[in-house]
Amino acid sequence: MVTVNTVEVRRAKIVVVGAGPAGGACSLVLARSRRAEVVLVDKSRYPRVKVCGSGLSPHALRVLEQLELRGMLAPEHLHMAGITARGPSGRQVHLRGAKGAWVVPRVVLDHAIVRAARTAGAELREGTKVTALLRDGAGQACGVGTSQGEIEADLVICANGSPSRFEVDPTPRRGIRTIMGWWRGVRLPAPDEGVMIWDARLEGYYAWAFPEPRGVVNIGLTIPDDGAHAKRLRVLFRELLDEYFGAALTHAEPIGKWMGHPATVTTRVGRAIAEPRAVWCGEAARLVCPGTVEGIGFALQSGMLAAQHVLGFDPRTGLSAIRRARYRSSVARHMLPRFWAGEALHRLMRSGRARTLAAGVFDPQWLSEHAAWLVGESRAR
Ligand SMILES: Cc1cc2nc3c(=O)[nH]c(=O)nc-3n(C[C@H](O)[C@H](O)[C@H](O)COP(=O)(O)OP(=O)(O)OC[C@H]3O[C@@H](n4cnc5c(N)ncnc54)[C@H](O)[C@@H]3O)c2cc1C
Repeated sequence: MVTVNTVEVRRAKIVVVGAGPAGGACSLVLARSRRAEVVLVDKSRYPRVKVCGSGLSPHALRVLEQLELRGMLAPEHLHMAGITARGPSGRQVHLRGAKGAWVVPRVVLDHAIVRAARTAGAELREGTKVTALLRDGAGQACGVGTSQGEIEADLVICANGSPSRFEVDPTPRRGIRTIMGWWRGVRLPAPDEGVMIWDARLEGYYAWAFPEPRGVVNIGLTIPDDGAHAKRLRVLFRELLDEYFGAALTHAEPIGKWMGHPATVTTRVGRAIAEPRAVWCGEAARLVCPGTVEGIGFALQSGMLAAQHVLGFDPRTGLSAIRRARYRSSVARHMLPRFWAGEALHRLMRSGRARTLAAGVFDPQWLSEHAAWLVGESRAR
């Protein structure tokens, strides 16, 4: 039992669906508080591979620090000091930020967060697929149906990524298609530099190559769902690999199969991310930056914010309207400015006219350096 405003309230039972960065961070903060019983459910077994570039921006690294996880991950990272960025016209710029980014393979990152949440007291149920968000007669969430039976809950946190099967947001989804692979022995321009290529066929999105620890490089592409080439993803990927990475891949050895997973981006935070007994965070709430497709930092941050805003709620009544509004507004305040800037980057890269106009007004190197703010760099050089 805990005391809230001198009233004795029993400990809430919170089920977190999905043990990616959003669900892991949320479970960790809840479990550390010892004010709730936390059950973290994932269909996979850990450690598990995740289709992702695994790039942790300076913004994501700040959130990992707030979660007191950065130190633990330090031995597992590759420091990506810069990016060689190539625009649709073929012009190339080098971006070396003041802080740089980390690459921590998701198989390592997600497992580390889940381990920390378990150590703090969360119960992990792996290999358990959630099939339904259960609702009571009044329409409020009251637990989940899973492949292993039902789990009752006072509150359900939906952190099950994209596309979320429990989403209640009625607005149309903006999907990004992706495909990627891993190689060993790739000759990048510099071992600590990534590559990003805004090819016109990717319609405002990009192909990338990010160096991982232990000599591995991941290479992939992102393209809007409605892009003319989005339906020929594998063929397009092969073309781009040959055109841009042919020399770099000459002596490289592929690791495993190419994989893809849709991402969902947004420029708004809807009312539908919080109900009295259900909260959405991470990509299940569409919290991925348009333009950059950066989602790990926003997943960690929204998981952390969700936990902070539900802590101490009264399990008899659910989340009050004020708690729900505070969660929504803190997510919006922390994320929307970057999402809007990401959308501007996407539009600039998609439209030749907009680029010509921008190039007439701004120096491209200046523009690229200021775009680094998007990923949390305070200053680029
Ligand atoms: C190809 C690609 C490359 C990317 N590269 C980057 C990058 O370099 N940097 C970056 O910041 N972002 C990147 N992103 C975005 C980033 O991967 C996501 O935004 C991030 O993983 C979202 O975290 P999450 O915790 O919300 O969801 P997820 O990481 O997707 O985790 C959701 C979890 O829920 C589980 N789950 C799903 N459904 C169920 C169910 N029914 N029952 C039980 N469990 C379930 C899944 O197994 C998974 O473990 C990339 C995305 C893609 C597709």
